[in-house]
Order: sequence, then C-alpha cells, then structure tokens
Amino acid sequence: MGEVVAVLGGGQLGRMLGLAGVPLGLSFRFLDPSPEAPAQALGPLVVGALGDEAALRDVARGATAVTYEWEGVPAEGARALEQLGYAVRPGPNALEVAQDRLGEKETFRRLGIPVPAFAAVDTRDELARALDDIGTPAVLKTRRGGYDGKGQVMLHRASAVEAAWAELGAPAVLEQMVRFDRELSVLAVRSLAGETRCYPLVENRHAAERGTGGILRASRAPAPAVTPALQAAGEAIAGRLLDDLGYVGVLAIELFQVGDELLANEFAPRVHNSGHWTIEGAETSQFENHLRAMLGRPLGSTNARGHSVMLNCIGAMPDIDRVLAVPGAHLHDYGKTPREGRKLGHVTVTAATAEELDDRVARLEFLVDA
Ligand code: AMP
Repeated sequence: MGEVVAVLGGGQLGRMLGLAGVPLGLSFRFLDPSPEAPAQALGPLVVGALGDEAALRDVARGATAVTYEWEGVPAEGARALEQLGYAVRPGPNALEVAQDRLGEKETFRRLGIPVPAFAAVDTRDELARALDDIGTPAVLKTRRGGYDGKGQVMLHRASAVEAAWAELGAPAVLEQMVRFDRELSVLAVRSLAGETRCYPLVENRHAAERGTGGILRASRAPAPAVTPALQAAGEAIAGRLLDDLGYVGVLAIELFQVGDELLANEFAPRVHNSGHWTIEGAETSQFENHLRAMLGRPLGSTNARGHSVMLNCIGAMPDIDRVLAVPGAHLHDYGKTPREGRKLGHVTVTAATAEELDDRVARLEFLVDA
C-alpha cells in the first residue's frame, strides 16, 4: 500500500480531499464523531470524538501525514499526535490561533494586516467601554466556537446591548461593523519548503436571512473587477500570515473590500468552501494542492481556467438532470441527510467568458437554493 493520509473530520471537505488524492495514489482514513460522515466513501472511518486520544491514535496509525478538515478540532489532540512523531500539517498552532477570534485579530494586527476596529470584551463594563470607543453599528462576537454567522449579534443601536450581552456573554470581541463594498476571500497554499502560491481573489455572497444568515451562498472566481494592485494586496496578506504561522497546506482568509482597501475578517486553516470552484475552475484544485503541500510534493498551478461560479445547495438538492443540462455545470452531492440550513452539495459552473457565465448562472439559480 502507498502513502496513507489521516484526516481529522469526515465531512464534505474530507471527502473532496479523498477524491483529489486517489489519482495521486493516496489512501485515506478519517476520524469523525458521526457514523454517517460523508468522507467514508473514500476510506475507512474511525467513529470517535476529534479530541479522543485513543481514536486519534487509531486513525493516525501508519499514516504518512495527518491533516484536519475542520478548524474546531481540539488543538491538544493534534499536538498529542505531533508528540507521537506524526507529521501534522498544517501544524496545531494554526488551529490555536484560528479558534480564538481575539488571537486571530491580534495576529493580523501584529503582521500589519488591516482589520476592522475591535476590542476584547470580558465583562459588561468592558463592553460599555468598547462601545464608547467603537460606536454603533458594531458586531459582538463570541471568542470561541462561532462560525457561519453563528455566535454573533449585530448591534445597530446602543439600546440593543443588553439583549446581545444576555445572548452571548464573555469572552467576546466587539468589532466595528464595516460598510464593505463586497466580501472576497484569498486562498493560498504554502509548501513544506516555504513557497506560497495564491489563487485569484474570489467574490463571496452570504445569506442574509434569519436562520441561514452568514452561510456562504455563492462564490465567483476570478472575482470581477480586481485590479492587479488589489490581487497583490490579497497575496501580500496571505503571504505574511502563512509565513508567520510556518503554515503547510491550503488556508483561506475572508476579506472585506472597502474602496481599494482589504480588511481581514477571519481565516480558516484548511481547504475552504470558497475554494470549491478550483476543482473544475483552476489548473490544480485546492484539495490536490493541500495534499501536495502536506506530503512535500511540488505545488500545482493556481491559475484559473476561464470563469467559474460555485453555488451551494443548502437544505435541499436540486434536480440533477436539470442542473446537468446546463452547459459547463458540475454537480457535487455530498451524500448527506437533508436538513434545513445544511450544506448538502454544490454546483460549479464554468465558462470561457464572463458573459457566457452570467447566462449559465441565471439558469442555475432557478434550480439551486443559492
Ligand atoms: P464571520 O462569522 O465572522 O465570518 O461573519 C459572518 C458574516 O457576517 C460575514 O461574512 C459578514 O457578512 C458579516 N460580518 C461579520 N463581521 C462583520 C463586520 N465587522 N462588519 C460587517 N459585516 C460583518
């Protein structure tokens, strides 16, 4: 048997890592708390908690390298594997920074990466002081465990503070609400030897409605109207962060564009939903490049092939035949049980020109809940 990759987490990201790794001759083993984890189509599944030491040893046994597909993986578990001699890539330090919104923002600031004004909030008094400094509108976010817009409350008026404090409490971070022009992300891959390559900036649209607010609905790549200076700014942000973390693998940074400036919101130390378009839309997918990096192989080109849009299928899958009838459309069904607000799959549509892409997206938007 060739090289074995152990993946902590067995969701769709693990599944797509497996799909990208099979042609490279890799075998996979996954650890997930759910016996229904979608990645098990690509390799044996160890069912257990992601912080459980026995389960971690079990999934890692004999693996060439260990990676994770969820930033909630307890960093101590990843560290324990490292101490047993396993190559854990990206390293557990990236998990630690990403798991604490305050540490994440302080890291950006230390590296000279612009961020929205923020303040740490540990007590009700600190919240009052932070509001005096930052003003409204602002966003109160829990320091740990928030994702997809969960664990955060928008404060449009100072009078909304009591309810927000009762809902979230401390430890939290208060952040200035940014009137951004649009949301972008930069996906970057850094090799074992320290070379960083970035994909073209991606434009992201998130759901705003209650219940599914904050979930990514659609990504377009390359993002329209990106000047070389803006692309360079995104790449500089990614380069600084990945070098500082000594990072190996793919990482995504969510950005707010305000005029010509990029502000960093947060980063995910893993392959990312806003990079799914790379499967069909780039010369090397984010999944393949993540595996190449963690196994010490040469990186692949991050150039886009034409124009792509990725639409998430949330809560329900579209009619497969109608989707596949759209030229350039590719359906990805993660094999998950439908539930409201759950990402069940995605559709990527590619085209040679932006105009052709717009036509195809218009046809797909009727079919996909995006
Ligand atoms: P997050 O959980 O930090 O990724 O936030 C989810 C979404 O909430 C983002 O994609 C933005 O649409 C919105 N959001 C978060 N923070 C801010 C902010 N400081 N200003 C404006 N919108 C924000």
